[in-house]
Amino acid sequence: MKQVYNALPIWAQTLAVNFASRQNFRLKYGGVFRGWLVDLEHNEKKSRDELLHQQQVAIRYLLEYAVEHVPAYKGRSPEKLSEWPILEKREITGAHLSDEFQPRDLMELHTSGTTGTPLTVKFSKEYHQVEMAFRWRHKAWAGVPFLSSSAYVSGHPVVPPMQTKPPFWRWDRYEKRLLCSSYHIDPPAYAAAFQKYRPDFIHGYPSSLCQLGLPAEALAKTGGYKPKAVFTASETLLDHQRAAIEAGFGAKVFNWYGNTEMTCNIVECAAGNLHYRTDYGFLELLDDGTMIVTGLNNRAMPLIRYRIGDRATAKAGACSCGVAFPLIERIEGRVEDYVRTPSGRLIGRLDHLFKDARYVKEAQIVQRQLDEIIIRVVKTGPFDEAPVRAEARQRLGDMRVTFEYVDRIERTAAGKFRFVISEWR
Ligand SMILES: [Zn+2]
Repeated sequence: MKQVYNALPIWAQTLAVNFASRQNFRLKYGGVFRGWLVDLEHNEKKSRDELLHQQQVAIRYLLEYAVEHVPAYKGRSPEKLSEWPILEKREITGAHLSDEFQPRDLMELHTSGTTGTPLTVKFSKEYHQVEMAFRWRHKAWAGVPFLSSSAYVSGHPVVPPMQTKPPFWRWDRYEKRLLCSSYHIDPPAYAAAFQKYRPDFIHGYPSSLCQLGLPAEALAKTGGYKPKAVFTASETLLDHQRAAIEAGFGAKVFNWYGNTEMTCNIVECAAGNLHYRTDYGFLELLDDGTMIVTGLNNRAMPLIRYRIGDRATAKAGACSCGVAFPLIERIEGRVEDYVRTPSGRLIGRLDHLFKDARYVKEAQIVQRQLDEIIIRVVKTGPFDEAPVRAEARQRLGDMRVTFEYVDRIERTAAGKFRFVISEWR
């Protein structure tokens, strides 16, 4: 199928993209979508007490459902969630599917197999619409309501890998989306495309968007176009990436944290705070920040007290935006984003190694053995290792630091950038 698509002329590829989009449009936005969107927007007017009460009711309902319909949970007590064991990714099997659904009716998503255990997550067609309602509710926080036009710079494989000249995008007129290829990052070409299509918002991988920033800044000066907001998702958003994207596009970044397992949703509001959605999932934070999550809405495959592999820190208080969903101080990113020191400490947020560095287009940290990190750098000028070494010594102690200079940083099969690669485990 992919080979047939890739062999088509560009106009026919656009036709194919639009044909698929028309089919998908009903699947995504028909059925229960509208009703859920209205209900979810209503939740934004509730007090925190009301939200937490509503969440407790949903948890109770979910546990009763799971005990009755999901073989893996048979015999458990629906009374006390805190007594349920933590569910590890490798433990998930077909026994976690509800007996109420026919497997052939379910849709599925796969988590990346590049690190850890691959997993297939199943969900109903109806739940797919629920998920879309959650996404559009967040978009509204940035002033871009349902069906605002957009540009997506993420893993959409709409452009054949061997294509070397623009256009590196295809226009989907049903959803008013410019589907851009994160495998073909060509800043001047994208600047011209954004100018032409003028999407209301831009959505993408932070690593892709921060490379597109500067020409867009020039474009904003000359062509007057800037998006109302930029949404980032799928990768840990690093501080320097946020700064580059906001400067480059002249718009605020709204970070979205979600996961393929559809168990936890943390989203950034206009006031710059992260809110955890109590109507999407139930989040427990262990003492070291480990996130244990329970998705509340995917009946076909309820994941209860699931260790998602990320860490976060809670934040007390209320937000000036007026929405009562609880606050999260920071998402520390995936466990794979950490370097482990010989003494066993896990060190995250290593993007700070580069805070005083110049002439770095991109960098990546690779750990192959316990006492050494390799820093790959794509440099744009006379890069100086000294400030990075000084920061590394402060954070990582005596670990050996070796620099490797490369022309580009390889992406994963899904086109994602990974800042830290741990190969020693
Ligand atoms: Zn807020």
